[in-house]
Amino acid sequence: MSEPKRSGGAQRPGSTDRDSGAGPVSEPTAGSPVWRPSGATRVVGVIGWPVRHSLSPAIHNAAFRAVGLDWAYVAFEVGPGRAVDAIDAMRVLGLAGLNVTMPHKADVGAALDRCTAIAEALGAVNTVSRRGDALIGDNTDGPGFLDAIRLDEGFDPVGRRCLVIGAGGAARAVVRALADAGAAEVVVVNRTPERAEAAAALAGPIGRVGVAAEAGEADLVVNATPIGMPDSDEPTPIDQTPPLLPVEPAHLGSGQLVVDLVYHPAVTPLVDAARAAGAVAVNGLGMLIHQAAHAFRLWTGEDPPLEVMSAAALVELGSRNEGSGVPANLPKKD
Ligand code: NAP
Repeated sequence: MSEPKRSGGAQRPGSTDRDSGAGPVSEPTAGSPVWRPSGATRVVGVIGWPVRHSLSPAIHNAAFRAVGLDWAYVAFEVGPGRAVDAIDAMRVLGLAGLNVTMPHKADVGAALDRCTAIAEALGAVNTVSRRGDALIGDNTDGPGFLDAIRLDEGFDPVGRRCLVIGAGGAARAVVRALADAGAAEVVVVNRTPERAEAAAALAGPIGRVGVAAEAGEADLVVNATPIGMPDSDEPTPIDQTPPLLPVEPAHLGSGQLVVDLVYHPAVTPLVDAARAAGAVAVNGLGMLIHQAAHAFRLWTGEDPPLEVMSAAALVELGSRNEGSGVPANLPKKD
C-alpha cells in the first residue's frame, strides 16, 4: 500500500503549518468592527455534562466572526436525564441549532420531530437543526471522520481494510461511515465482546469482530477508546500493552494510517508510538473540526471556514497549556 497522501481541506489539526491563510481568530483586526451580540443574534450551542471544557464555542464563534454572521455559540451544562427538557427549551428560546454530547446523545431523539437515517441507525444524535418549526436530529461524527481522513490525510477508504478499536458512540459512527464509504473490511476490537458485535453489525457483511493483533493487516487503524487521554490510566485488557496503548506498536508500521480520536494531548501515546513504528498517525482534532463544519453548514447554510475553525481549536488548546505561551498540543513535525 502506498503512503497516504495529504491534500487540501482544513489546516491539518496539530500540524505546524502556519501558511493556512487563517488570520487572528478571536481578536478583531485593526479597523475592523467589533462584533457584539444584538437582539437579532442567532444562538446555537452544545448541551452536555460536563461541557465547560468543550472546544466547540471557540471553533464556532471564530467561524461566525470569519464569515460575518451575527450568530453566537454557547455551552449549556445540562445534567443527566434533562435532555428532553433541553430540547423543549430549545423550542421555547428559539435556538437555531444544538450540538449534543455525552450523556445525552441517545436521549434527545425522542424529543425531536425526526432524525436522519444515520442518526436512527446509530441511535445517537450529535447535531440538532431547524427546518421551519421542525427540529431534526443528525449525526455528523461519521461524515466528520471521513472528511478528516480523505481531505486532510488523502486516505480513500474504498477497498481498504480497517480496524476500529472501541465500540462506543464514536466507534459506531466510524464503523458505519467506513462501511458506507466502501471499505473492504471493518474489524471491530473491544473489551466488551457484545458491544463489539453490535458495532460490527453496523458495517453489514464487511464487519466482524477481531483482535488488536490484526492491526498489522489493516490499512487504517482507528482508536475510538479514551485510552491515551490523561485521565485514562486504568490498565486495558486489549493486547496487554501497558501503559496506555490500545494496540501493540509491533502491529503498526509503514503504509498505514493510524487515527487516534483522542486529541488532547496532541501527540497521544498511540500517535507517538505509531509514528515511531513508521505509520502516518494523527489525532482526533481533524474529526472534531470536520464534524463541526458539517453542523455549521446544517445550521447556517454557509460554507464553513475550515482553516479558521482549525486555527481556533489550536489556539484554544494552546491557551490551556498554562504558562508556556507555546501551544504544547502542537505535535512534532512529521
Ligand atoms: P464511549 O461511548 O464511552 O465508548 C468508549 C469505548 O472505549 C467503549 O467501547 C469502551 O469499551 C472503550 N474503553 C473505555 N475505556 C477503556 C479501557 N480502559 N480499555 C479498553 N477499552 C476501553 O465513548 P465515545 O463517545 O465513543 O468516545 C470514545 C473516544 O473518542 C473518547 O476518547 C472521545 O473523547 C473520543 N471522541 C473523539 C471525537 C472527535 O471528534 N475527535 C468524537 C467523539 C469521541 P466497553 O464497550 O468495553 O466499555
